[in-house]
Amino acid sequence: MAAPSEDTLRRALAERQAAADAQAEAVRALKAAGGASKADVDAAVEALKALKVEAGAAARRLQQALGAGAGGAAREELRQAVVNTLERKLFYIPSFKIYRGVAGLYDYGPPGCRVKANVLSFWRQHFVLEENMLEVDCPCVTPEVVLKASGHVEKFTDLMVKDEKTGTCYRADHLLKDFCKEKLEKDLALPQEKADEFKRVLAILDDLSAEELGAKIKEYSIVAPDTKNPLSDPYPFNLMFQTSIGPTGLSVGYMRPETAQGIFVNFKDLYYYNGQKLPFAAAQIGQAFRNEISPRQGLLRVREFTLAEIEHFVDPEDKSHPKFVDVADLEFLMFPRELQLSGESAKLMKLGEAVSKGTVNNETLGYFIGRVYLFLTCLGIDKGRLRFRQHLPNEMAHYAADCWDAEIESSYGWIECVGIADRSAYDLKAHTEKSGVPLVAHEKFSKPRKVEKLVIVPSKKDLGLAFKGNQKMVLEALEAMSEKEAFEMKAELETKGETNFKVCTLGKDVVITKKMVSISMEKKLEHQRVFTPSVIEPSFGIGRIIYCLFEHSFYTRPSKSEEEQLNVFRFPPLVAPIKCTVFPLVKNQEFDAAAKVIAKALTTAGISHIIDTTAISIGRRYARTDEIGVPFAVTVDSATNVTIRERDSKEQIRVDINEVASVVKQLTEGQSTWADVSAKYPAHVGPQGDQE
Ligand code: AMP
Repeated sequence: MAAPSEDTLRRALAERQAAADAQAEAVRALKAAGGASKADVDAAVEALKALKVEAGAAARRLQQALGAGAGGAAREELRQAVVNTLERKLFYIPSFKIYRGVAGLYDYGPPGCRVKANVLSFWRQHFVLEENMLEVDCPCVTPEVVLKASGHVEKFTDLMVKDEKTGTCYRADHLLKDFCKEKLEKDLALPQEKADEFKRVLAILDDLSAEELGAKIKEYSIVAPDTKNPLSDPYPFNLMFQTSIGPTGLSVGYMRPETAQGIFVNFKDLYYYNGQKLPFAAAQIGQAFRNEISPRQGLLRVREFTLAEIEHFVDPEDKSHPKFVDVADLEFLMFPRELQLSGESAKLMKLGEAVSKGTVNNETLGYFIGRVYLFLTCLGIDKGRLRFRQHLPNEMAHYAADCWDAEIESSYGWIECVGIADRSAYDLKAHTEKSGVPLVAHEKFSKPRKVEKLVIVPSKKDLGLAFKGNQKMVLEALEAMSEKEAFEMKAELETKGETNFKVCTLGKDVVITKKMVSISMEKKLEHQRVFTPSVIEPSFGIGRIIYCLFEHSFYTRPSKSEEEQLNVFRFPPLVAPIKCTVFPLVKNQEFDAAAKVIAKALTTAGISHIIDTTAISIGRRYARTDEIGVPFAVTVDSATNVTIRERDSKEQIRVDINEVASVVKQLTEGQSTWADVSAKYPAHVGPQGDQE
């Protein structure tokens, strides 16, 4: 039977509580009236007690459901266990720890570095190699002009509120989110309408403007969490780290907030390198920097992180993808904007249908969504805790055609780990305009085509005389007219000599006269079509993916004696920091020599491994490597014939010493599964396994 929903439990609690309150009132009335017999009063009190017990049980059921859901104590506990193991085993280290660290900055330690290298190497194989992408590596320090053109200097902001007395800064949307979540999780007496309202606010949080956020903060009387002081209105804070390039301090630069701009500014050269053919993709892996307002989600929200980005350039008139068929049958959780706005949950959908119904804007975008799904699940992300969420209208940049985030559920809730956006032609157009270098593609016609072209020629002199400082805005608005608008204007100018014209950037109408602009259609022979390509951008936050992978891979199991819980990371071999450990069972020359032979063969086969000769029990040594997720352990208990143990099943097989490296290689590279090798080699059920 399906568990009752949170709404049902909330309603049940409200009913039980109301019944108990009514009975309490009845008992009070009975006592106040004075005439009732002791037996009647006792019976009414007993009934009240029973109703209170029922209300208490309903409250516990709701509490349990909330605890098992978002933000529950179980999640907190899991996070603590994972984070403790990660820090103890040096997967990562808070940066500058001996100086008490800096919020939002972390180092990867030895096993963490290996996991990261494995994830990046698989990323290169799965995307760069598969699609023949052109990889580049651009500097982090970026001159201001580039980020002005891209819009980051003006708009790369988050909304911030300040504690009005202490000046401490908070992200406005995070405070509202925390408030609504806390109410939903902790306030058991919350009326159903209020619960619905808070859920709706959470669903549209990313869609709220500064004014709307400010209004909600006021409406709910949200105050500074640390001091309970009042908060300022939300205002934008630019997240880029500013610096200066060179000693004069005159040349402003920024640490790049994304790697994408390095690719856009190189478009012209990359297009030629690719033989002037579209579509093609460029890729870059590198550090990105964002001065987050109050980073507090551990490794998930940091101030410097590794991004892996793809810019796939495509003809805006043809966004089909020849390999879409390869992913069309994939089925996974999708969360289109209609479901979000109506308060529903993500649904399993076939990717092919999502594209054919227009839920996903085009095949190329759909292709990358499918490839991202395969990438994440191959790494070991749990399919049930991965969804693709479409951006809400306001959340999406105005120029974007469609945008989906791969979100992974962790103990912090659903986290955006990969953004997949159809950014249309925005970036290339912006850099073309700012740099004066046309970042365009050409389609050569086999035969020249006769075309009629709209030609709008504004007269700068007359516009200047009429509009002075506003001349540029009027001129741009005239040039941007559609064919229909231009011909309506031409007709009016010819009949009346002047016309009213709305200039959006000025926010008003101006009067245009005949001499200010000439509008005509010209016949031309065209040999090629020149256009600005659209770009589809999958952007991967590598640190976020890795952290979610840590949580999804972590589990505990009792030791043999059942006295303690042992930690295990069930990393697939692809991700595991070390693929294999070699344990001489006891210290003697013969076993040490055999271990060395095996280690040498593993090195030759390119399998990362360590020999552990510590004088502790084999069970302890297994537990130690399970804790860093090593998938296979070779135990040398004979000079000729050894065992290989699989981490999760703890099963062992017996293999000739000369075959060990090739068996482990097949297992780690995916040519054989554990079931395959178990069928081929004899199982080992000996004393050494019993010591775990
Ligand atoms: P965006 O350009 O904001 O869509 O970010 C691209 C990706 O970078 C996101 O999908 C995240 O995975 C990652 N990301 C963004 N901000 C941070 C951060 N502060 N810390 C870690 N990863 C981040």
